[in-house]
Amino acid sequence: ETPKATFRRVLLKISGEALMGDQQYGLHPPTVERIAREVKSVHDMGVEVCMVIGGGNIFRGLSGSAQGMERTTADYMGMLGTVMNALAMQSALETLKIHTRVVSAIPMDQVCEPYIRRRAVRHLEKKRIVIFAAGTGNPYFTTDTAATLRASEMACEAIFMGKQVDGVYDKDPKHHPDAKRYDTITYDQVLTEYLKVMDASAIALARDNSMPIIVFSLDEPGGFRTILAGEGTYTRVH
Ligand code: UDP
Repeated sequence: ETPKATFRRVLLKISGEALMGDQQYGLHPPTVERIAREVKSVHDMGVEVCMVIGGGNIFRGLSGSAQGMERTTADYMGMLGTVMNALAMQSALETLKIHTRVVSAIPMDQVCEPYIRRRAVRHLEKKRIVIFAAGTGNPYFTTDTAATLRASEMACEAIFMGKQVDGVYDKDPKHHPDAKRYDTITYDQVLTEYLKVMDASAIALARDNSMPIIVFSLDEPGGFRTILAGEGTYTRVH
C-alpha cells in the first residue's frame, strides 16, 4: 500500500557527484538509474517533484578559474555540465515511464525547454517531473542557490537535499564517531557554525524566504520515500 505523503510539492537537490558512483568523474548510468527509481517512488505517492542537479562531476567554475581560466567562462562551462546531468536524469526517468521536462535557465531550444516560470508550474500540476538545468543562468552562483530560487518560485513546501549522510552533524560523522546529528537546526546556526548544508548565499536566500531544507541520505534505499511519508532520519533546517 502506498503511504500517504506529507508534502504536496518538493524540490530535490542533488550534487553532480551523486551521479558519479565510485568513479572520479562524470556519469555512472546505474547510479543515475538508482536515483531515478528513488524519485519515481515519491512521484508514485502523488507528490509533485522538481529537481536541481549540480555539475561538480563534470566541471566547477572555481577549479577552472584556479587554473587560469576566466571565471565567468568557467562558470558557464559548469552550467553546461548541469545540462548534461539533467538530460541523463531525464532519460533515466523516461525509461521508468515518467514524463519529464528539462528546463534550462540558458535557452538552448534544440536540447530542452527554456525556463518560463508559469510553464514549469503547469508541468508540475500535470505531474511531470521538472528538472531545472543551467543553475540560475548566472556566473558566480551555485546550483544550491538555483535550488532555493526555483523552490521558492515553484512554491515548493521544502527543499530536499539528498546527501551521503542522513542529516547535519556537528562534525564530520565519517571521521568522528561521536559526531551528533541535529534533528532541527536554524539557518543562522548553519551560517555561524559553517555547517556544510548549502553555500552561504543559498542558506541566506532560504532563510529570507522561509524555505525549509530537509537534509537526508540518498544512499539509503527507499529513504526519500520514507521521509516524504513522515518517517526516517533527517535534519530539518528552518
Ligand atoms: N554555476 C554557475 N551559476 C549557477 C549554477 C552553477 O555559475 O547558477 C556553475 C559554477 O561554476 C559551479 C558549476 O556550475 O561550480 C557546477 O555547479 P555546482 O558547483 O553547484 O554543482 P554541485 O557542487 O552541486 O555538483
